[in-house]
Amino acid sequence: MHIHEYQAKTLFKKNNIQTPNGILIDATAQASDACNTLGGDIWVVKAQVHAGGRGKGGGVILCHSVAEVENTCDKLLGTQLITPQTDAKGLPVNQLLIEAGQNIERELYLGLLIDRQTQKITVLASTEGGMDIEKVASETPDKIIKFGIDPLGVLSTKDCAEIAKKLELNTALTKQFNTALLGLYNIFTQKDVSLIEINPLITTAENTLLALDGKIDFDDNALYRHEDILAMRDISQEDEKEMTASEWQLNYISLDGTIGCMVNGAGLAMATMDLIEHHGGSPANFLDVGGGTTAQRVAKAFELIQSEVNVKGILVNIFGGIVRCDLIAEGILQAIEKVGLNLPIVVRLEGTNAAAGLKLLDESGVNIHTEADLTKAAIKIVALSK
Ligand code: ADP
Ligand code: MG
Repeated sequence: MHIHEYQAKTLFKKNNIQTPNGILIDATAQASDACNTLGGDIWVVKAQVHAGGRGKGGGVILCHSVAEVENTCDKLLGTQLITPQTDAKGLPVNQLLIEAGQNIERELYLGLLIDRQTQKITVLASTEGGMDIEKVASETPDKIIKFGIDPLGVLSTKDCAEIAKKLELNTALTKQFNTALLGLYNIFTQKDVSLIEINPLITTAENTLLALDGKIDFDDNALYRHEDILAMRDISQEDEKEMTASEWQLNYISLDGTIGCMVNGAGLAMATMDLIEHHGGSPANFLDVGGGTTAQRVAKAFELIQSEVNVKGILVNIFGGIVRCDLIAEGILQAIEKVGLNLPIVVRLEGTNAAAGLKLLDESGVNIHTEADLTKAAIKIVALSK
């Protein structure tokens, strides 16, 4: 689960990580009060959406007067913000964070994640923070400092100071850095976080260290034990189809291609998508209907795929292990009866009761192409959806 920047900053403050003063608003009428309460003469209006790259997408605007702040709020509220990290549709801007403009000296990067290779919670830091950190990581990876934390130990002040030194921080800033990093580590371990990021972590002309941005991703499987985190969920930022899918225990992710896929098992789904690409097509979604699926869930999955506007054809690829192929066939027929079928569809069934499933489809009178071989099925759907 993702949360907004303003929510991340609330957690930061609770954990002794300093942030600029800011006020959340959801209507332009609240803007001038917010500016007056914050004081100063420079404010930054920041769109609250579940995506980074807002600066590049016009969602972070520096303003030099209250009128300019109001103007910016008017322009942003109620729109869809498109950034390099959203899809072409963008994300709805319902809330804005008005922040006191800061006197930035340096923009650093600081984050924590689980490094799957070393199996450690790992600190990532860089002197090259800011809006181009992705470029820094890919083009000059040596500029990223990595520090793996011993899973049996803890992150010590000494470790923090070592990282601070590599970031070329002076004594006063090192002290603030240690507090900030320990705070991040505390949030990470206490709240079952999978990624926490401050980009940029700035040093100011006043010799202070501030978290100017905040990103936190939580492990969905652990949310049951964090009611406070769950309460921060903002479903307006989530993909409607992915939400419906999760209600039906379907793993569904929308993609940009034209071939809808319905597969059981994440690995098989990946392989199916690869095969479609290999034969010149592009998948419209990732969909894993799971192991012990039911005819109803298959029907729901089918509805979801058909509701994607860019889908030109559907490939069903099921390996019947626990699930029976005849049951899948029933689900497909149920779904077609309910929502109709106006797209070419290729069904490949293999495993438990595959023959019975294929027979059911072949005899249904519905225009379904059945295939026992996966490669042939992929080639066929690519051709049919062109
Ligand atoms: P994103 O990462 O989504 O682009 P950020 O919150 O990191 O959004 O903001 C982008 C850039 O805007 C920052 O790198 C920083 O240069 C500037 N910025 C953000 N907040 C402030 C602020 N309060 N004062 C001054 N500049 C800011
Ligand atoms: Mg940022």
